[in-house]
Amino acid sequence: MYTNSIELLEVSPRDGLQNEKHVLSTADKIALIERAIAAGARRIEVTSFVNPRAVPQMADAEDVAAALPDRRDVTYIGLVMNARGATRALNTGRIDQLGAVAVATDTFAMANQNQTSDGSVDAARGIITLAHDAGRTAQATIAAAFGCPFEGEVAEDRVLAMAVALATAGPVELALADTIGVANPAHVARLVTRVREAIAPIPVRVHFHNTRGTGLANVWAAVGAGARTIDASIGGLGGCPFAPGASGNVASEDVVYMLERAGIATGIDLAALVSASHWLGTVMDRTLPGMVARAPAFPKLS
Ligand code: ZN
Repeated sequence: MYTNSIELLEVSPRDGLQNEKHVLSTADKIALIERAIAAGARRIEVTSFVNPRAVPQMADAEDVAAALPDRRDVTYIGLVMNARGATRALNTGRIDQLGAVAVATDTFAMANQNQTSDGSVDAARGIITLAHDAGRTAQATIAAAFGCPFEGEVAEDRVLAMAVALATAGPVELALADTIGVANPAHVARLVTRVREAIAPIPVRVHFHNTRGTGLANVWAAVGAGARTIDASIGGLGGCPFAPGASGNVASEDVVYMLERAGIATGIDLAALVSASHWLGTVMDRTLPGMVARAPAFPKLS
């Protein structure tokens, strides 16, 4: 059931940067967001409102929110873990959509947000309600949906039950996140299909890290199974400070290249994305993991 178009959600300003030793200035974060918008991104995870001692890279969340380009056609998403973070995000007046996270296992939920897995589902439902009360929308993500860095295999039925519990709170979509990059395309196709059928008409988003090289294959499997939105990060930056061994997200330019060449529209300009990736590599002072930005343009520009 391959579709004609897919939405990309740019996560580089948050997931991309939160695990980097090099802390970007607020101005450079805004420049990154401006480049993503110029390339065609219309949903962007711009920051997270979390404890700055736990994630110092996101300590300037309010400053980033205040400096966001005034664009009615762009949805700015702020990730939050609890009511306190939700209130901070909503108080900026600049965050259109809250991102809530529930974690599939108790051990990872304790490491990530000091809660049980069930507690993280309750917290995420509370965050969605806070967003609605403030006249905003919210999305929810199930972290470690395909495997846990501490507990290993995660039962599909557990993820399914969480998805149903989260869906009743009314998020705009529900994401399955492969936080540590262990998923494979068969697992992705199966779980996306099961969750999509269980929470319809709420759409499914996916979030993949390319830790073991299966990222793009997983994106393709998710699109085939009916996922509507793909999280991706310019240059393939990304990781989780609380998940040992987590590495970069699938690179936005790699996802756009694959989908557009396969006849699936993304609304994103590949050349602008590649240029943004080159710029980001210069700012970070290293070669970024994304592959398309390091390869010759194809087909050749005339
Ligand atoms: Zn991630």
